Amino acid sequence: MEKETEQNKMDKIISLAKRRGFVYQGSEIYGGLGGTYSYGPLGVELKNNIKQLWWKKFVQDRTDVVGIDGPILLHPKLWEASGHKAGFGDAMVDCKECKKRFRADHLVEEAIGIDMEGENEKMNQAIQENKIKCPACGKFNWTDVRDFNMMFKTEMNGVEESVFLRPETAGAIFIEFKNIIDSTRKKIPFGIAQIGKAFRNEIVAGNFIFRLREFEQMEIEYLIHPNMDWEPLFEEWIKLQEDFALELGAKREDLRRREHSKEKLSHYSKKTVDIEYNFPFGGFKELFGLAHRGDFDLTQHSKYSNEKLEYFDQDSGERFTPHIIEPTFGVERSLLMTLISAYNEEEVEGEMRVVLKLPKKIAPVKVAILPLSKKEELTKPTMELFNSLKNSFVCQYDETQSIGKRYRRQDEIGTPFCITFDFDSLNDLSVTVRDRDTMKQDRVKIEEVESYLKEKLK
Ligand code: ATP
Repeated sequence: MEKETEQNKMDKIISLAKRRGFVYQGSEIYGGLGGTYSYGPLGVELKNNIKQLWWKKFVQDRTDVVGIDGPILLHPKLWEASGHKAGFGDAMVDCKECKKRFRADHLVEEAIGIDMEGENEKMNQAIQENKIKCPACGKFNWTDVRDFNMMFKTEMNGVEESVFLRPETAGAIFIEFKNIIDSTRKKIPFGIAQIGKAFRNEIVAGNFIFRLREFEQMEIEYLIHPNMDWEPLFEEWIKLQEDFALELGAKREDLRRREHSKEKLSHYSKKTVDIEYNFPFGGFKELFGLAHRGDFDLTQHSKYSNEKLEYFDQDSGERFTPHIIEPTFGVERSLLMTLISAYNEEEVEGEMRVVLKLPKKIAPVKVAILPLSKKEELTKPTMELFNSLKNSFVCQYDETQSIGKRYRRQDEIGTPFCITFDFDSLNDLSVTVRDRDTMKQDRVKIEEVESYLKEKLK
């Protein structure tokens, strides 16, 4: 797609997201707070459906993964052990003219197409040698590139040091390792999963809900024996992550794997792969990640806490520190990818129809139930139909405006089926069921509607 049309598409999605109650800018009436968003009545449903699908697929349907829900506030020592306190951040550079701040690696990569993340001196040189201008004001007058720690700091009663809002969910999992082993008696290999909030004081937040300062992650720490032949398992996890993206509606050609080069790889990681999605802003960017973290985390927490974080294999009598494979997923990036993949404009009988072709299982509303007119002779039985179906599907009753407008509204929010109760329904005891994608209409007996929908929504 052309750059302009891509931006256009994003603008349309952002506008639809606000107009229909998916996503609102955070603190908007006070002028907004960068990198924070609220999820409206449909957004919260869609987000919950994505999280539930993930939890079912990766926790409930598997015998080798258990879940936890750890706190956002964790002991300050944890962040010393993990290395976050000393070095979790990005390099930034400020324009001395307009005072705008940029992520140095992004500035350099956008200007000369080379990724220099983590190499501050090289980035300084690249900015000077290539005379990279400020994208905001066009001037060339930069501060030095310097590190910026992205953790949010806060104070806690009774704790002398500052505490931090967790910048990732994984830490809470590592420090519960012993409790989980003791309480579940799980045998390695197995995984520990968590969904929860993470906070990063990003230098530049943006691209709608792609880069946020408050967001949610869905992570698994999968524990393996240090001598395990881990590569097939690693490959299996990448496939599972790609499958999840496909299940949320991504097209295969919009997904790509990017393995971290040896130079960019963290010192403890044997292999790290980003699963990227072709976003309409700037192309392929990280959607999910997968990393082999070795025994780094458990060894570090063991050292800093003086607790032995080892696994004892009762069959072999062996005691060892497990290695970890970590698949990580962003909730908001999943949601954004879902909206982008689902957004369609179609010309129907000379008119433009906007339709979100969301996968049915995550659509916020499954069935809209619409009386043809507001007359009580129709609204009463339509409401009865709503009451009889609401236990099986998330339904929405709507009697406002013309039926055409109501169909368009339901198309825009991705409702797979609309049921219309009309005057004939009073006699033939049937209703019209309209399919969102084909717009085909079926006349279905009221007593069969539930099984008809169950079949279609399977
Ligand atoms: P990026 O390179 O885009 O900054 P990252 O490599 O720092 O991302 P991870 O630390 O691997 O990201 O985080 C795991 C997942 O959390 C990412 O794959 C992404 O889906 C999500 N994520 C990370 N940072 C943000 C953010 N600022 N806003 C929204 N989601 C995020």
